[in-house]
Amino acid sequence: MPATLDEPDTRPARSARPLTLAIVGATGAVGDEFLKVLDGRGFPVGDLRLLASARSAGKRLTYGDEEIEVQELTRDSFAGVDLALFSAGGGISKEFAPHAVEAGAVVVDNSSAFRMTQGVPLVIPEVNPDAIAEAGIVIGGRAGIIANPNCSTIIALVAVTPLHRATGSGGVRRMVVSTYQAASGGGAAAMRELEDQTRDVLGGREPTRRIFPETYAFNLFSHNTDIGPDGYNTEETKMLRETAKIWGVPVGSDPGQIGITATCVRVPVMRAHAESINLTFHGQLSEEDARSILAEAPGVEVIDDRPGNRFPTPLLATHRDAVYVGRIRRDLSQPVGRGLDLFVCGDQVRKGAALNAVQIAELLV
Ligand code: NAP
Repeated sequence: MPATLDEPDTRPARSARPLTLAIVGATGAVGDEFLKVLDGRGFPVGDLRLLASARSAGKRLTYGDEEIEVQELTRDSFAGVDLALFSAGGGISKEFAPHAVEAGAVVVDNSSAFRMTQGVPLVIPEVNPDAIAEAGIVIGGRAGIIANPNCSTIIALVAVTPLHRATGSGGVRRMVVSTYQAASGGGAAAMRELEDQTRDVLGGREPTRRIFPETYAFNLFSHNTDIGPDGYNTEETKMLRETAKIWGVPVGSDPGQIGITATCVRVPVMRAHAESINLTFHGQLSEEDARSILAEAPGVEVIDDRPGNRFPTPLLATHRDAVYVGRIRRDLSQPVGRGLDLFVCGDQVRKGAALNAVQIAELLV
């Protein structure tokens, strides 16, 4: 989608040579969004290879005004590829990303396979773009893997980092996040499950569960990832560990560490995650200063209309680039200036996955 009138145009000017691109997982929810984002932002795409499982081989997908046939992903899919965008799950990334790198491609990976691997930059372009240069990865030069963070981490940190880095705030000392996560985070099949179950319930039929362990329509449940011995599910643990890597600070309860805790929940929203975020600062940051900082922050749109009771919603964030922030208010349980509450929404298929990955690629061309 091209930048709209009411959204800032974040596309960089460029005159790069057209690149040979591969999209791994092109038929999925993120793959579909890749096609839209690359086209909408005028990314310099030359040859475009669309890869998926054998089930999808021969299927035709639309890119701009072209129709391109999907090919089965194999180890030989990457000959001549400059840039490979992976979104087919961690197992596929682990198996095939090294082959892409061996063939000379830069890989931007949407899965969790390499996020915590030492030497693999974990990048949100608005937050830590320098991590790519530090890793020395260059298209047509040094091949390598760059990881896209988890969608909930991206949405939280686009909003919170400007406050963490604000002069005076002294940095975040503690962050408490509660997520309200959409079906689209579970991929195309999860979105179909929510649709089908909603129809079933409204039609008076027993809803069928295929993807999620709990009934999704007219319900909500703790995130469907595995629970560790500490009681945190994997989605929550990712938020803690990835924030530590991106901010370059240890997370924990000791002095000198940032305390982060999260509760991740799936809600019956089709697309776009919401997060309630409570912050404690080492220093002082007033509500007014926070609002002005967020109004200027890259990738952020403030919607904080108290008289109209109008704040960010997943529907408003759907198909949009920005992370929307509202309910910006002093946490009354903390001394003045020490604590804030925020409510944020972002389209996690877009900013939480495809757009963030394309923005990373734009830093390389
Ligand atoms: P999805 O809709 O289920 O799509 C999965 C894609 O992977 C499809 O294109 C599928 O191809 C392909 N695939 C599956 N098995 C394959 C195989 N053996 N060989 C080649 N391709 C195979 O999932 P998604 O939501 O797009 O997510 C994809 C990845 O992005 C996951 O790692 C996910 O964690 C990550 N991610 C997703 C989101 C999100 O909001 N959805 C956000 C951040 C990160 P077929 O159609 O041929 O099966």
